[in-house]
Amino acid sequence: MTKKQDHTTEALEHLTEMVIEAIENNPGQWTKPWADTVATSGMPTNTEGKGYTGGNVILALSAQIDHEYSTGIWGTYNQWAKALGGTKVGKRWMADNGDDEPTPLTVARKGEKATWLLRPQIVKVTKDAKGNDLPEDKRRTFTTFRGFPVFNASQVEGGEEWALATYGPKANGLEPVAAAEQFIQGTGARVLNGPGGAFYTPSGDYINVPRLEQYQDTIAYYSTVVHELGHWTGHTKRLNRPGITTPAAERTRAAYGFEELIAELTSIYVGAGHLGLVIEPRTENAQYLASWIRTLKEDPKVLWKAASAAAKAAAYLVELQPAALAEVA
Ligand SMILES: [Zn+2]
Repeated sequence: MTKKQDHTTEALEHLTEMVIEAIENNPGQWTKPWADTVATSGMPTNTEGKGYTGGNVILALSAQIDHEYSTGIWGTYNQWAKALGGTKVGKRWMADNGDDEPTPLTVARKGEKATWLLRPQIVKVTKDAKGNDLPEDKRRTFTTFRGFPVFNASQVEGGEEWALATYGPKANGLEPVAAAEQFIQGTGARVLNGPGGAFYTPSGDYINVPRLEQYQDTIAYYSTVVHELGHWTGHTKRLNRPGITTPAAERTRAAYGFEELIAELTSIYVGAGHLGLVIEPRTENAQYLASWIRTLKEDPKVLWKAASAAAKAAAYLVELQPAALAEVA
């Protein structure tokens, strides 16, 4: 073993010990390190801030997921026209064009299809087919549904900006870290900032993470991204790790825990070596891991196996970097 490898092994062992220690000292419940707002929670809400209810939640949510919309903010044509500052002239919404003539306001971009939601309508039957009043005991009430079209903020010109400015996280002074951004970009992974928290989806092969403004500190944000990048390396076309390639339904709790440990260690290794960020085993991550790995505890070797898989994942992410960047790192 060369001297360099020696140091690497030593560093890995040290980091892994830190993680184990953090896990053992933090047996509490995991709390997510980001805060959600109306726009980022993913719960379908209209431009007026009112949440949809019943089946409409499912209809809107499934459209959000299918089309990877960036927020859960929706509106009818009228609601969007009002939100975006249109002026109603007679029956038409007109765009304010400054000194120029107002023009009819278009809301959804060309080619965007509406999602149809349902509005319950209570129908009271008080007359018979001939129009005669029915006696009291023959009158009835029933509910029908009437569809109404809505557009997600992502389908509307200026809609995403409006939704985030109105219902999104407020600027919190956190600035992106150039080296970290470059590293993430260097991997070529698809990283979205949509609703639904932090996850990697093997079927869609993309990462989703909350926005930087939703975090309390920069390191928490980047450790989340690189944790998900750790999972991303497990895809069949990359390192083909069973924790990612096994269908979710067939994965045991221990297998989940093992994969989580790999992702977490990857984030620590990459953070320390390549992002210029000291990603320490964070309390919330330690607690998160603890909930998964209790079942692994019987076999301490499992932790070392995870550490070696994480070192592989970290090396894989580094190898994807353009030559110049990898050299410096
Ligand atoms: Zn994970």
